[in-house]
Amino acid sequence: MLQDSDRIFTNLYGFDDGGLAGARRRGHWDGTAGLIAKGPEWIVEEIKQSGLRGRGGAGFPTGLKWSFMPKSDDGRPRYLVVNADESEPGTCKDREIMRHEPHTLLEGCLLAGFAMRAQSAYIYIRGEYVRERELLQAAIDEAYDAGLLGHNAAGSGWNFEIFLHHGAGAYICGEETALLESLEGKKGMPRMKPPFPAVAGLYGCPTTVNNVESIAVAPTILRRGAQWFAGIGRPRNSGTKIFAVSGHVNNPCVVEEAMSIPLRELIDRHCGGVRGGWDNLKAVIPGGSSVPCLPGGLCDEALMDFDWLAGQKSGLGTAAVIVMDKSTDIVRAIWRLSKFYKHESCGQCTPCREGAGWMMRVMQRLVTGEAELEEIDLLYEVSKQVEGHTICALGDAAAWPIQGLIRHFRDDIEARIRNRKADLKAAAE
Ligand code: SF4
Repeated sequence: MLQDSDRIFTNLYGFDDGGLAGARRRGHWDGTAGLIAKGPEWIVEEIKQSGLRGRGGAGFPTGLKWSFMPKSDDGRPRYLVVNADESEPGTCKDREIMRHEPHTLLEGCLLAGFAMRAQSAYIYIRGEYVRERELLQAAIDEAYDAGLLGHNAAGSGWNFEIFLHHGAGAYICGEETALLESLEGKKGMPRMKPPFPAVAGLYGCPTTVNNVESIAVAPTILRRGAQWFAGIGRPRNSGTKIFAVSGHVNNPCVVEEAMSIPLRELIDRHCGGVRGGWDNLKAVIPGGSSVPCLPGGLCDEALMDFDWLAGQKSGLGTAAVIVMDKSTDIVRAIWRLSKFYKHESCGQCTPCREGAGWMMRVMQRLVTGEAELEEIDLLYEVSKQVEGHTICALGDAAAWPIQGLIRHFRDDIEARIRNRKADLKAAAE
């Protein structure tokens, strides 16, 4: 369990002032120039040593990502881009940072930008986050007025600008290269990689794209030290993490906790338990809608971190925990996700464009029980053909929930098909 003294986001619920005065009272923007004076290499090394892994879903080590930016200056500008597109169903953690803790993010932008020798940051915020954009823009304006951004930002000698860009509400713009395309004013379609953004990103210049939470935790890590952060959670899964728990729990919530917290403790301690009690749990999607679900039996021992969940062929993703009790029609729930991914496919590559729609239609037949039993294996096989054969991870996101369903709830699907056949036979007789 995370101690209060280890919390980074002490105003996550907005009980205190989210403005600059409140942020300063809570310890943000404290000694920022001193951290910058230690140099970019020190900052990158501290973040590496802290073990921070990206909080946007993929879990790639953040310090390592920062170190991919070119070492020598070739005259091109460099950019930090903050992915605030938060569109994964079930995910609502970055929203709380932008609403109530915007200055942690802005200070993080300055420190991360300096570490990568970038003098501009773009924050790309999702289209539906209108109030969040207003609050974040107000915080940016406040920071400029206080001399924390712009020329000689925070008295550090480094010039740093932050621009806030509002998306138009497309899920695919949360994919980092689609986000860059959208930022450049084009259609939000993912790019082929390589080249990776660190080589040719925004406007063809070296760019690093990071999630809001990854950037917002950086200042506290630098102030308190890498070892402090690395000491929370299991090895390779360190630090604090914001979890967003929704679905069939008594008190859905967003909460900062220690990485590797047992799932059961997370739900019982912070969410008042599963609706109807723990034994009423059917399944959990542990990391936003794109990761495979875990059946109730596995949830007893589940640890909420990257490696434990990957070991169960699921994932921590965005740490958006979707809880489903036994009243859930799990086949229909996964069909609904298939419909979402089919709708959000940008259509560039054939396995995703054709496969997502095909899988959704077969899922629909599984929901009604009209499918044949052999179609279950066929669906699994097709999902394997989509997975890993597309330009971006949306193809995987369309395939994984279905794979999880078939792996863990095959009996439910088969029973539905058999029951329908039996009903039809009885009616005919
Ligand atoms: Fe577009 Fe889907 Fe291909 Fe991604 S996987 S580029 S969303 S068609």
